[in-house]
This record gives sequence, C-alpha cells and structure tokens, in this order.
Amino acid sequence: MILTTTAKTKCDIKNCKNEAAYYFETKGAFGKCFLCKACCERLADELNKSRAPKSPQNTIKRKQEEKRSNG
Ligand SMILES: [Zn+2]
Repeated sequence: MILTTTAKTKCDIKNCKNEAAYYFETKGAFGKCFLCKACCERLADELNKSRAPKSPQNTIKRKQEEKRSNG
C-alpha cells in the first residue's frame, strides 16, 4: 500500500532529485521506499502496462468477432 508522507525526504528513484510525496514500506533492506509524485505515477503506469494484455490471442479473437458483427 502506498502512503503519503510529509517528511522532507528525497525521492528514492535513481537520478531523481524531487522531494518525496509518497512512500511504501518494504520488507527488504530499505525499510521504506520514498517516491515523488512523478515517479509514483510512472511506476503505477508501468505496473498497469505489464499487467494489461494477459493474452494477445484473446484480443485478436475479440477484434475478429467485432469485425464479423459489424458486417
Ligand atoms: Zn522521483
């Protein structure tokens, strides 16, 4: 779960110098991982992308059916 932070902490993402707006707790060596707004959004975006098309074949099949039903 991602939580908001008011602590004056820098974003933990490499090469990012923004101030963190969010953090989440990890079980690893870092304990807490801080993220700025931009990195948080980018991370969420990448998670969505990697999760999105589970089966491309289903998408193709659906497109074919749409085409058929349109005549
Ligand atoms: Zn950042």
